[in-house]
Amino acid sequence: MAAHRVICWDCGEEVDDPFVNTCPRCGGLLTVKMDLEPVKEMKPEDLRSTPIGVWRYAPFMPVDPAHKVSIQEGGTPLYTTAALGAEVGVKNTFVKFEGLNPTGSFKDRGMTIGVSRANELGAKVVGCASTGNTSAALAAYAAKAGMKCAVFLPSGKVAMGKLAQALFFGAKVLSIDGNFDDALALARKMSEERKLYLLNSINPYRPEGQKSVLFEIMDQLRYNVPDRIILPVGNAANIWAVYKAITELQEVGWIDKVPMLTGIQAEGASPVAQAFAKSSETFVPEENPETVATAIRIGNPISGRKALKAIYSTGGYATTVTDAEIISAQQLLGRKEGVCVEPASAASVAGLRKLRAEGIIDRDERVVCICTGNGLKDPDTIINNCAPPIKCGNSVADVERALSE
Ligand SMILES: *Cc1c(COP(=O)(O)O)cnc(C)c1O
Repeated sequence: MAAHRVICWDCGEEVDDPFVNTCPRCGGLLTVKMDLEPVKEMKPEDLRSTPIGVWRYAPFMPVDPAHKVSIQEGGTPLYTTAALGAEVGVKNTFVKFEGLNPTGSFKDRGMTIGVSRANELGAKVVGCASTGNTSAALAAYAAKAGMKCAVFLPSGKVAMGKLAQALFFGAKVLSIDGNFDDALALARKMSEERKLYLLNSINPYRPEGQKSVLFEIMDQLRYNVPDRIILPVGNAANIWAVYKAITELQEVGWIDKVPMLTGIQAEGASPVAQAFAKSSETFVPEENPETVATAIRIGNPISGRKALKAIYSTGGYATTVTDAEIISAQQLLGRKEGVCVEPASAASVAGLRKLRAEGIIDRDERVVCICTGNGLKDPDTIINNCAPPIKCGNSVADVERALSE
């Protein structure tokens, strides 16, 4: 484990109490400051004796591997997607498919570090609010760690596969009368009263695990830094985590170029993209976020200001896509690349297509789209947007007729 401190991202105050999720002095967001001095003596190759995955990057992680709670997260494929690239008009595109994590989303990267931290602290009860994937991941890691788990879900707005997972892994699933932002406020209250260890991304340890997606992309591209990385943005911790990983690689001298971080939001839940359009460093929360991409259906993103910092500091971009563009991009990935992602994940590809059409993305750029979650999480949306099965009689002639239609 690397030495580290938890500090306030806004005022720099050092924070020791592990049950505090915002700065006691100014109310600001917390972040982890790693001591990377030992890593400066190392090269990327020095880590390659351990399998690719979150724990390969232990020298960048603030938890002692002795307390590790792992289900072999990370190590997801980076696909070369020539057909997708040809379709959207960008020569070199890649898809980092996070849907192949143990519970089917990148949330597992944050959770292995977050629950290992809970383990290190001796926590017995963990909890989170969630649009679905965070709860699925936490429920699995809590099961593995033998901890009790409570998840706070907005009632009726969680994709079926995600709800099934949280129930299946034995979490107490609380359906809260309200949206995600309401569920999070309640979970935070429970944590402040020390009834549980909170594992939302406001917990500064979770983004630390999520940094690993960037480390893996660099490893998989042999440190040939891409021009741009595109991500969907919901609560906005992931784009921040990717940015933090970039700054740490710069600090240890492993990269000397920075990819333009590009955040995509759904039109109906787009406070970060709206702020970017006004060149603002702060955002205005939205009351009633709405989109088919439930994983990014968030009106008041906890890490929204951090996301804007990530985008501005890398010369990146932010924009919105419509639900129709999201579904179209989801189908494009399925039909051209054989990859099934959930709607929120397809937002990155929809953004690639839109920004290329607008000329923001150059045809010669090397672009990585992070596809955050597995399409099987949300089978309802898939079935609603595909033609139904073809009714067919039980004979060769019937089959031939059906296939020719
Ligand atoms: C959580 C999640 C997101 C959004 O990530 P943030 O860190 O909240 O911006 C996007 N896609 C999927 C599949 C997710 O589970």
